[in-house]
Amino acid sequence: MDARSFGSTGERVSVIGQGTWRIDGSLWAEAVAALRAGVDAGLTHIDTAEMYGDGEAIVGEAIAGLREEVFLVSKVVPGNATRRGVVRACEQSLRRLRTDRLDCYLLHWPGNHPLEETIAGFEDLRRDGKILSWGVSNFDVDDLEAALRIAGPYRIACNQVLYHLRERSIEHAVIPWCAANGVAMVGYSPFGSGDFPDPTSGDGRLLSRIAEAHGTTPHAVALAFLTRLDNTFTIPKTGRAARAAENATARDLALDEAEITALDAQFPRGRRPKTLPML
Ligand code: NAP
Repeated sequence: MDARSFGSTGERVSVIGQGTWRIDGSLWAEAVAALRAGVDAGLTHIDTAEMYGDGEAIVGEAIAGLREEVFLVSKVVPGNATRRGVVRACEQSLRRLRTDRLDCYLLHWPGNHPLEETIAGFEDLRRDGKILSWGVSNFDVDDLEAALRIAGPYRIACNQVLYHLRERSIEHAVIPWCAANGVAMVGYSPFGSGDFPDPTSGDGRLLSRIAEAHGTTPHAVALAFLTRLDNTFTIPKTGRAARAAENATARDLALDEAEITALDAQFPRGRRPKTLPML
């Protein structure tokens, strides 16, 4: 699967994107090259945040000259999410990203400032053309219901939440809620932030077997599984160009029913936890 409609925005967005948390841990030039290689390979959905250190500045350099090709997402930390604070934080992100607009702007996680304030700030930004849409992150169903009550239908573009093979809690209620309400579901940390099943032993062997059958890699198999449901997106991070190209091969990978059933059994979703897991 290449691209899907991104919630209520009507935009077609690449199902596999690129994350940038800790990308500033790589050499600057390598990180820029990795993001560019990803965009070249079709990973045009780029996720960053004001709290990702030099992440936004690296993205700004990587997308110079490519802005029209990219669906650019950034996030405000809850501590800045007053009506005015949201606008200020966004303007600073735009400067670091060297652009005049974000495609989507998210509240990074639920915080203490009233959500009415945050949403009013998002709507101010939208009216001024500084963001084209807004969304949330790490919102459980009750948080989503509260946001929907304030904003009204078809305003929340996406919910970005933790989703990988060993952490499938959102399948219980968050994914169905998002699908029912026209909210795109963006899964973060698809490789468990680097804690990926060892493809040579235990539960990782299944990933290797499926990868071999398709002539691809265990990481690509994981990405295909995590985007098998309608309305879902994923944003793996890498600071290496070769891996960005490798992750992009998941765009063309269609798992069959038997493979999905086997992965589902090997990496069960478990019970619904009391609180939504987040990093
Ligand atoms: P991740 O994407 O699950 O995993 C990244 C790790 O996988 C890195 O160690 C990377 O190493 C490695 N990797 C990437 N591609 C690989 C491949 N093809 N083969 C082998 N290893 C590979 O981790 P994440 O950064 O936690 O999550 C992804 C993105 O989600 C973040 O960057 C961020 O944009 C977003 N996020 C959002 C939130 C939130 O609260 N909204 C929280 C966490 C993350 P190298 O870089 O060395 O290749």
